[in-house]
Amino acid sequence: MKNSDTISRRTLLTAAGAIIATSAFPRSTVAADKVSEDEATAVALGYLHDATQVDTNKWPKRAGAEGAKQLCNNCALYVDQGDGWGGCSIFQNRLVAGEGWCNAWVAA
Ligand code: SF4
Repeated sequence: MKNSDTISRRTLLTAAGAIIATSAFPRSTVAADKVSEDEATAVALGYLHDATQVDTNKWPKRAGAEGAKQLCNNCALYVDQGDGWGGCSIFQNRLVAGEGWCNAWVAA
């Protein structure tokens, strides 16, 4: 085996390690991403960043005085991060607005 072959293999292994490390990184990046109101799960659950904009005819769970109290920031699935946004397990811990709402709301 030539010395240059060894270097090549070492370089290849280093590159492979970097790729593995890099491929793990986007998961945490994705976890910090804000949920878009337009994405499929959000649409299916009626998620909006501003709960006051929820169509209560379509989503009667949020109708009335009791429904109006439902916000992401008092939902059992919300993990506050202190800036008005928090992780939600429905969205793989991606960020939803504390003042938001979806039909999966659960009392904390
Ligand atoms: S499950 Fe709770 S925290 Fe998550 S989007 Fe719905 S209301 Fe907000």
